[in-house]
Amino acid sequence: MQLKQIQKRIAKGLESGEAMLRRASGKTLKKLDSSVITPADFDTHKHVDFFKRNRYATSVVAAMLAVAVSSVFTLEAGSFSSVQSSDLQSVEVQSPNQIMLASTFSEAGIAEKMPLIPEGAKKATSDIAELVEDAASFDAPALEGYAVKIDGVEYGFFNSESEAQNVIDTLMSNFTADKDIIEAYFKETVEVAATRKEAGLFKAFSVPERSVEYIMKGTDQEKIHVVESGENFWTISQKYQISVEDLEKANPGITPEKLQIGEKVSLMVPASLVTVCTVEKAVYKEQIPFETVVKEDASTYKGTNKVTTSGSNGEREVVANVVRENGIEVNREILSEKVIAEPTTKVVVKGTKARPATVGSGVLAKPVSRGTVTSPFGTRWGRRHNGIDIGLSTGTAIKAADGGTVTFSGYDGGYGYTIRISHGDGVVTVYAHNSKLQVKKGDKVYKGQQIALSGNSGSSTGPHLHFEVRINGVPKNPLNYIKMN
Ligand SMILES: [Zn+2]
Repeated sequence: MQLKQIQKRIAKGLESGEAMLRRASGKTLKKLDSSVITPADFDTHKHVDFFKRNRYATSVVAAMLAVAVSSVFTLEAGSFSSVQSSDLQSVEVQSPNQIMLASTFSEAGIAEKMPLIPEGAKKATSDIAELVEDAASFDAPALEGYAVKIDGVEYGFFNSESEAQNVIDTLMSNFTADKDIIEAYFKETVEVAATRKEAGLFKAFSVPERSVEYIMKGTDQEKIHVVESGENFWTISQKYQISVEDLEKANPGITPEKLQIGEKVSLMVPASLVTVCTVEKAVYKEQIPFETVVKEDASTYKGTNKVTTSGSNGEREVVANVVRENGIEVNREILSEKVIAEPTTKVVVKGTKARPATVGSGVLAKPVSRGTVTSPFGTRWGRRHNGIDIGLSTGTAIKAADGGTVTFSGYDGGYGYTIRISHGDGVVTVYAHNSKLQVKKGDKVYKGQQIALSGNSGSSTGPHLHFEVRINGVPKNPLNYIKMN
């Protein structure tokens, strides 16, 4: 319906305002259906502004109101004294949650609950309110609310200033809660800003919790890869052209080595829109590692390292300012250090004296150039055999298994002609059943030095060498110390 037609009808007084409103609204709503937003969207809005985006719709509403005012309702004295169909420029309708402005009319207020009609016309009054809401649903008004502004860019659209402020507070408290924070600030300019949104683009108010999540991740998008057989972070990074480091950042809960088939890997690298800088005071204990000092000792043989003082770590108390960005330490300023316990220096005495061949090297060599083991170490015929027997023809050279001092050289019962050599560190070797002894007690012998000739003396059933290794007096299997082949 055209404005002029309405005005004509008003002039002629031919049609009731209510009927005209009904017809006008039906037609207009149908025509402007494409820009509809639902009245539910307006429930919590403070303002709904009409601009000249849709002059036609605005005009119709204004005209309808004009009709309603002039031809249906009896106004209370003073309330709308200036309202006349000819000079109306705008009409303001106020409901508990809405103020609507029709900009083509001069300002006038209609309070919904104001008794526009003294009696009997309540229905018509509520129809107007309904119609105005309908009008809001086919125009595209701007909505007022609050946003979180980060370096000039708005995020979210909140119903109240406190909701927007809550988002900022939560972003901050994520990194400040339960800590001894001296200073905390955003690197960016972060503030609450009053803002408007095109209602036509408006879907719903932002949920504060989700806004916090969005700002911290820099995205609300999900991009997931489901792990297949044989895949790892490296192959996935190749497939999607992102670095392994970024994959790790995107999946802080996943241990790359323990990736499972079917596991969901996020490909969205979080990039927080804000950087929360915190300075926290930290008091902690720290180990002071001990030092090791090596002292050379000319009276000790080479190859000998003896710890004379064992080291122990000390401890100190440190007071520091720890600077973090979004929880990650970027700097640490040590304010003070107090030693609680000094470390003890470890002292090692290192021998430098040349080791003569007549001192045991700790490594045994076989006592003969050749020959085979004819009887092993261990229990034999119900008797324990304390060494090995090496079959040899009489007169074969017997050699010292290591450097050392001869402690016995002589006839020893069943052992026959025997030599015993002490090599130090409790190691003694025994050579028995010889035919001739070539060193005497007290002699220093070197490793490989010939000490006897083999034979068949003592309890022996044929020429052989009975060879023993004793450690601190206990016979050990010589084959654990020497190789016969
Ligand atoms: Zn034997």
